[in-house]
Amino acid sequence: MHVVVCVKQIPDPAVPGELDPSTHALKREGKLILDESDSYGVEMALQLVDKAGGGEVTLVSMAPNSEVSGLRTALAMGAAKAILISDDALGGTDSLGTAKVLAKAIERAGEVDLVLAATESTDGYTGTTPAQVAELLGWPSLTFAKQVEVGDGKATIQRQTEAGYDVVEASLPAVISVTAGVVEPRYPSFKGIMAAKNKPVDEVKAADLGLSAESVGWTGARQTITSVAPAPAREAGEKIEDDGEAYTRVVAFLEELKVI
Ligand SMILES: Cc1cc2nc3c(=O)[nH]c(=O)nc-3n(C[C@H](O)[C@H](O)[C@H](O)COP(=O)(O)OP(=O)(O)OC[C@H]3O[C@@H](n4cnc5c(N)ncnc54)[C@H](O)[C@@H]3O)c2cc1C
Repeated sequence: MHVVVCVKQIPDPAVPGELDPSTHALKREGKLILDESDSYGVEMALQLVDKAGGGEVTLVSMAPNSEVSGLRTALAMGAAKAILISDDALGGTDSLGTAKVLAKAIERAGEVDLVLAATESTDGYTGTTPAQVAELLGWPSLTFAKQVEVGDGKATIQRQTEAGYDVVEASLPAVISVTAGVVEPRYPSFKGIMAAKNKPVDEVKAADLGLSAESVGWTGARQTITSVAPAPAREAGEKIEDDGEAYTRVVAFLEELKVI
């Protein structure tokens, strides 16, 4: 079985992010790391290939400055190889443009049975990319998977809902977005880290995927960040002196919020 995992490499969330004042886009100049949300997809893919008794996991990532740090982490976990799309022409690409790039890279990966992605990234979190990738490939899209099983030419997932889960299935090949917690990601072993240094990363430009400069980047973007404002400061809460009846105010407040 051949599973492709879309992995986003993001600025370290532990370091305060900075926006470019002219484009309002997140600055991505320093080292990027594997988005933790995508470590679940990598682990799920490795486990599915193991269960299938053979095959391999390929990573696909679009990132600036030929960045491979996050890819090396996922390769150290056990993925076999990666396709990296890195190109100055991709600066300003919105989520649909990203999906176009990823779909073309997945086609470049050859015969693919399954594509995994996270339900949303940690830095952009539109949560729209995986379904757009599926649409562009013409494959079924399964979303919010908290459990994934593959067999008999189909994928069956437990789709997280507010009340519990729905069981949903689709024929393969398909694109599945997985939630955090679908599996417990492994830590890369020392042997894995050493092996990852020599695993192949196929670095390509948008043109290598047959994408024109006009369909991606700032020119191709259909979304614009018109303005950015600091989040309003948190207001002080309401204080209620307890005269023995304060609980009625607390209950009324929770009812207003519709949590009870
Ligand atoms: C006008 C505009 C300009 C932008 N400019 C830039 C820019 O210059 N540089 C930049 O990096 N971003 C830029 N972005 C943000 C970027 O387009 C989005 O982060 C990206 O399209 C994915 O959206 P998301 O993070 O919301 O992904 P989501 O849909 O929340 O991600 C879900 C999952 O999809 C997969 N995925 C998403 N993005 C990637 C990726 N790049 N590679 C591999 N897998 C992925 C991952 O599995 C991820 O967990 C811009 C956005 C807008 C609206």
